[in-house]
Amino acid sequence: MKNGNCPKCGSGEVYSGVELILKGGPFASNSIPVSLTSLAPIDNYVCVTCGYVEHYISDPSKLKEIAKKWDKAGSEEDEEQAKE
Ligand SMILES: [Zn+2]
Repeated sequence: MKNGNCPKCGSGEVYSGVELILKGGPFASNSIPVSLTSLAPIDNYVCVTCGYVEHYISDPSKLKEIAKKWDKAGSEEDEEQAKE
């Protein structure tokens, strides 16, 4: 999707909100909570042909933070073994 092509309908009419000012900061309208005190700004890619939307976190430090603080998906048993 980042290359400008929609994975759903194949259209090349993909637009990104990467430069939107409101995506981060105290008035963030486009962020997801990482922890109680941390928000990760989201870059949206929208296909204006079919309406499909993809979201990316562009800040590498937020990605590291999520890897530390969130539970890994899809491997519950492995996760429990790792904690022992
Ligand atoms: Zn599309």
